[in-house]
Amino acid sequence: MTDRSLPAGLHRDTLAVRTGLERSQHGEHSEALYLTSGFVQPDAETSMRRFAGTEEGFTYSRTSNPTVTSFEQRLAAMEGTEAAIGASTGMGAILMMCMGLLKAGDHVICSRSVFGSTLNLFAKEFAKFGVETTFVSQTDVAEWRAALKSNTRLLFAETPTNPLTEVCDIQALADLAHGAGALLAVDNCFCSPALQRPVEWGADLVIHSGTKYLDGQGRVMAGAICGPSKLIVDVFGPVVRTAGMALSPFNAWVVLKGLETLGIRMQAQCANALAVAQWLEAQAGIARVYYPGLASHPQHELAMRQQSGLGGAVVSFDVVGDTPEEARANAFHVINSTRVVSIATNLGDTKTIITHPGTTSHGRLSEAQRQAAGIGQGLIRLAVGLDHVQDIQADLLRGLSTLTS
Ligand SMILES: *Cc1c(COP(=O)(O)O)cnc(C)c1O
Repeated sequence: MTDRSLPAGLHRDTLAVRTGLERSQHGEHSEALYLTSGFVQPDAETSMRRFAGTEEGFTYSRTSNPTVTSFEQRLAAMEGTEAAIGASTGMGAILMMCMGLLKAGDHVICSRSVFGSTLNLFAKEFAKFGVETTFVSQTDVAEWRAALKSNTRLLFAETPTNPLTEVCDIQALADLAHGAGALLAVDNCFCSPALQRPVEWGADLVIHSGTKYLDGQGRVMAGAICGPSKLIVDVFGPVVRTAGMALSPFNAWVVLKGLETLGIRMQAQCANALAVAQWLEAQAGIARVYYPGLASHPQHELAMRQQSGLGGAVVSFDVVGDTPEEARANAFHVINSTRVVSIATNLGDTKTIITHPGTTSHGRLSEAQRQAAGIGQGLIRLAVGLDHVQDIQADLLRGLSTLTS
């Protein structure tokens, strides 16, 4: 038989369609979906060895499943890590990571601007179990350095952030973590491996919400951690087996197929986002546009270096308003005047989504907390999809051109 194993050195686009594919005896071309909770064992001795972990083989889908394994292998290949492990959701992945790495008495440093549920997981849930977290500036490395303690085990960052697209310097944070004997985990949800591979900048672990760009079409919930085999297999594997935040095989299959088109979707959505951001900067009624691909973005150069020269697909902007009430009324007018884009709170979909963070994702914060976070009442977040850019612009212009103040 000729050697049909994949050669080394393939490009990411090829890995996205070729890796993690172990064909069954039928030789199916597309990835098979193993929708099964359990696996039949050939005999009691094999079953014993598989349960003891001394022989490879599937036993029960909370532990592992061939479709989930395919997804894990493909995502790891695209992130450039040795291994990956699936989780039921992005938050499930972060929970799994914390359960695996932390114990009572440990200290975590986390950006103040991370995803709201991540903030709560550290500030409320893990605080209950004696894990202390210090929240610091997204962009000021000196604050991270000053927060280090002898018991700091983990630095957690997300870049760019939601909804203000602030970018942190992964390499600087990795150096800081490693100098203190801690690990750096980066939530790579906004960029995906198509734009940014955090391990190339020194990060130890990469977190994903597969719900966003990896699926890319708003269909299923999924999550993953990517990293070195010794952590994935020896630390996180036992956590998912015991605690049960396992990825369903059906969801794994959907996201696995989503990875095949991730590269071209991200290219197209980033191009649309840049065009919308540039256009917004020139419109009346706009106070400020937040987009890493714009020269006006405070971390533009860092973002271009870290994100393969692309700004991502999330654009936020402030509409004008002399008071918070007026700004909110204007923002609501722009949102309510759209007829094409969806009013929803997800992101990473082919359908463009418009959101008012101040009354949705950040609605439970006090006005003072919101001000401190820079989330004004005039702020609108646009998660740009594959709608034609002129249709998105026309949709926004309907409201922007009829603002009364
Ligand atoms: C959505 C999101 C998560 C959580 O993912 P779920 O799949 O919704 O649990 C985590 N981090 C970021 C940056 C996100 O946008």
